[in-house]
Amino acid sequence: MTFQHDNESIQRLTYTDEYWMRQAIEEARKAEAIGEVPIGAVIVRDDQIIGRGHNLRESTRDSTAHAEMIAIREASSSLEAWRLLNCTLYVTLEPCPMCAGAIVQSRVPRVVFGTRDPKAGCGGTLMNLLQEPRFNHRADVLEGVLQEECAQLLTSFFRRLRNKL
Ligand SMILES: [Zn+2]
Repeated sequence: MTFQHDNESIQRLTYTDEYWMRQAIEEARKAEAIGEVPIGAVIVRDDQIIGRGHNLRESTRDSTAHAEMIAIREASSSLEAWRLLNCTLYVTLEPCPMCAGAIVQSRVPRVVFGTRDPKAGCGGTLMNLLQEPRFNHRADVLEGVLQEECAQLLTSFFRRLRNKL
């Protein structure tokens, strides 16, 4: 018996939502490494990352320096367009109101997030700005991809922070 894999089927096996969420987790680790709250995001189009970002709120002293905002800016600059058509945004934590707003403004068609944010989540937890019927754009949302890993990053970061105090 022989097993044959054409390139296309191998690619389909490799590029799952989990695969891209792992890339977002890598971004979150970059934030963690510099003492930032570990949240990361990537934007994928045609099986390629066209934007990545991690939380930089403390280092930049900028309340808008969230992972998704940075990834959206990079993706727009790489596409030379403000509309992020045919893109999926992967983020380890449910988007806040600002980021959900930016996702709607940039017409991102699909959002995948890892874990819910009970204090700021606007992808369905506190409200659902990503799928508000009165807006002119709604995104498909998938939550819970690598949920435990994404949540663990945050809980261990805050545990370490508390131990330092
Ligand atoms: Zn945000």
